[in-house]
Amino acid sequence: MALLKTLKSIGNYFHEIYDGVASLMRGMKVTGKYMVSPGEVVTQQYPENRATLKMFDSFKGELVMPHDENNQNKCTACNSCARKCPNGSIEVISARVEGEDGRSKRVLDRYIYHLDMCTFCGLCVQACEEGAIEFSQEFEHAVFNRDNLVKQLNKPGSTAKPSSE
Ligand code: SF4
Ligand code: SF4
Repeated sequence: MALLKTLKSIGNYFHEIYDGVASLMRGMKVTGKYMVSPGEVVTQQYPENRATLKMFDSFKGELVMPHDENNQNKCTACNSCARKCPNGSIEVISARVEGEDGRSKRVLDRYIYHLDMCTFCGLCVQACEEGAIEFSQEFEHAVFNRDNLVKQLNKPGSTAKPSSE
């Protein structure tokens, strides 16, 4: 009985060695394949490739508000995006100004985005009928101070495009 147990242990020992060597050979085979066919390498050499790295099209890096060359955005301060946001990551602070027709109208004062709370669900972008916000592919969000993750998306001095008023 004791002899049988010893033989079984020795068998397991060599079996584990065999598994280890087989696993090593499988890994070496993959490495060798990529060495002779570098075009098939899928691993990204980050951060060395920072300048050329492109994320996939549907990647959600952070919310942004595009502005044109006249520093105009499409936001009408309607607040739909903030209402849709499930965790209060958006604050639309509006102001009232007098329009050319003398009537009071609402305009965007500050569009505050809390990147630190955003779950990248995309509901805000879907809710915006003006197409005023979108996701950029920026993914490097490491900061020393969390306050830096609270961002104003409308640029200083920007206005709404006349067509979206
Ligand atoms: S992506 Fe989702 S969580 Fe982030 S701001 Fe938009 S609605 Fe809120
Ligand atoms: S970003 Fe779009 S949905 Fe949000 S307040 Fe501006 S216009 Fe309205």
